[in-house]
Parts: sequence; structure tokens; C-alpha cells
Amino acid sequence: MRCEMCGTEVEAPVRIRIEGTVLSVGPECEKFGTRIEPVPTPADPGRMNRPVGAAATRVGGTGRRLEERDLYTEIGELELAPDWSKRVRLAREALAWTPDDLAKKLNEKRSVVLKIEGGGFHPPDALVRKLERLLKTRLRADPAAGA
Ligand SMILES: [Zn+2]
Repeated sequence: MRCEMCGTEVEAPVRIRIEGTVLSVGPECEKFGTRIEPVPTPADPGRMNRPVGAAATRVGGTGRRLEERDLYTEIGELELAPDWSKRVRLAREALAWTPDDLAKKLNEKRSVVLKIEGGGFHPPDALVRKLERLLKTRLRADPAAGA
């Protein structure tokens, strides 16, 4: 590059400060200003690391929150009747549907239907509502019917 003071081609320009202006100059023009020592470099990584670390923590926190929300959705928040899975099976059998039939109507895998009927997992709310609609039966715990 060229010396910003005199314009001669320089191989290894030196950064100097002249009256608040930083210039890259050749060795012959270095005397016109104050050479800027590469002091900020060791300080910079330290200053850089903290925000990066903070950002990483923030990203991790967001990820965890998302995970929790997904899990929550997956589990479902509706309170189901204690015998909800039995109700699914009985209603399905009353309609003379095979687990495959129900799976197709739910747009789910057969294994999901089998898991539901086995009470193996708490389906998402959307799936509970779909089941109730398809089977015309109530799967949620009815507070009025308690005791
Ligand atoms: Zn020069």
C-alpha cells in the first residue's frame, strides 16, 4: 500500500496518530506523528469475549425456554379423565374402527394410536380435541362429574 503521508509505496506501513488522525505511513514518515502501538489488541479480545459469552448464555436460555414450551405442548395441558385411554379404545371399537383407521383419521401413525390407547403418553391438546371430535366422546376430566 501507499504511505498516506507522502504516497510512496511501503511494504509494512506503520500506523501513526497525527493531531487525532490515524494514518498508515512508511517508516520515513513515522516521525511526523505518534506511533500507535498495538496495545489495544490484547485488550480487545477481553472486551470481545464478554459480549460473546453473554450472547451465548442468552441463546442457551432461549433454547431452553423453547424446549420447555415444546415439551409443554407435547404433553398437553388439558386434564384428562383417568380412563381417557380406555374411552378412546371403547369409542373406536364402537365405531368399528381399527387402530389404523383411527390413525389415518387423526393423520397420525398407528403407533401413536396404540400409545394413546395404552395410556402411554399424554397427547397434545390439539390431538385430544381431534380425538374427542372424531370419536364423539369426552376425554377430558369433567370437574362437574367429580366425587
Ligand atoms: Zn511517507
